[in-house]
Amino acid sequence: MAKVTFEKDLCKGCGLCVAACPKGILELSRDEINQKGHHPAQMTDQSKCIACAFCATMCPDCVITVEK
Ligand code: SF4
Ligand code: SF4
Repeated sequence: MAKVTFEKDLCKGCGLCVAACPKGILELSRDEINQKGHHPAQMTDQSKCIACAFCATMCPDCVITVEK
């Protein structure tokens, strides 16, 4: 199964990865605030991930790593 990890304290909450995900399984956290003061991106349902890596490609800050 694909594994997606986030270097969450680097995230600036821009939402580009959320918009890029074809499965609609990324969101910006509502509760959490990272070290930069942003709501970081997170995964809602790992089992639906197809490891396309669109999210990682879109992220301007290299927050996301996708492993197959
Ligand atoms: S690898 Fe593809 S399906 Fe998985 S979270 Fe990223 S954009 Fe979505
Ligand atoms: S694209 Fe990168 S910086 Fe922007 S919300 Fe997603 S993980 Fe955070």
